[in-house]
Amino acid sequence: MVINLAAICTPSRYMAESAEVIRSNYDHPARLADACQKSGSWLIHFSTSEIYGKTSAESGLLKEDETEIAFGPVSASRWSYATAKLLTERYIAGLTGLSWTVVRPFNFVGPYMDFMPGIDGTGIPRVLANFSAALVRGESLTLVNGGLARRSFTSVHDAVDFLFALFAAPADCCLGQAFNVGNPDNELSIAELAQKMRSIYADIRGVDLASLPEPKVVSGEEYYGKGYEDSMRRLPDVNKAERLVAFRAKTPLDVVLRESLEWFVSHYG
Ligand code: UDP
Repeated sequence: MVINLAAICTPSRYMAESAEVIRSNYDHPARLADACQKSGSWLIHFSTSEIYGKTSAESGLLKEDETEIAFGPVSASRWSYATAKLLTERYIAGLTGLSWTVVRPFNFVGPYMDFMPGIDGTGIPRVLANFSAALVRGESLTLVNGGLARRSFTSVHDAVDFLFALFAAPADCCLGQAFNVGNPDNELSIAELAQKMRSIYADIRGVDLASLPEPKVVSGEEYYGKGYEDSMRRLPDVNKAERLVAFRAKTPLDVVLRESLEWFVSHYG
């Protein structure tokens, strides 16, 4: 069995480094899939919920085998990552005789996520780490395009449980299948996430919420650079994982946010 979780998967890099992002998310995993085909290994490949593309605020449940997919134009290099990831899924599915399972993570979050800009990494980390870093530094949280995009955050502990459920399931039920791994109960807008994280942080620090700076709004292109676009909603249909693997994510958002922020404060604070 080979499990591939290696990837460049930070949106801030999809614009300026799109060729490298494509190499990391198509060329390298495709060679790994070739090797698995040769050796007869079961390849469990981590893809992404971003392959559902440029979803709108009205998009409903995203279903592995039904939802139609649209990306933005080539000039919007945000989609370099999604295009490479989707091509890899198609390549894997096209390799004769390869045993494969594809996992599509929906915003996994938890302790150890990403980095603190200027301390152990540069650039813009994913939203959980970026908000945590701003809170620890006493800065305003940045709401890209008003923070209207919606995400369904999934605890990393649930993600690990999914893998063990996959190992325990009869192998033939999961071969040749793509699975959403997400938590639809944890869906909210990024603006709502900012308010939740501010409250939890104030509670951890024992300070008044009113003493923390208010979030500020920035445009996506100003913040991430030219070519940034966004998925406005990512709500997973999780019935397939429940039906075939007997798995359902169970960690509430408040629990994983508190655990992550406590870790961030003790590690960097
Ligand atoms: N975002 C934001 N402020 C930040 C970082 C991200 O408003 O400091 C937004 C981003 O524009 C997107 C969402 O939060 O709508 C999730 O971004 P992330 O980088 O975590 O990854 P994505 O889910 O887009 O792959």
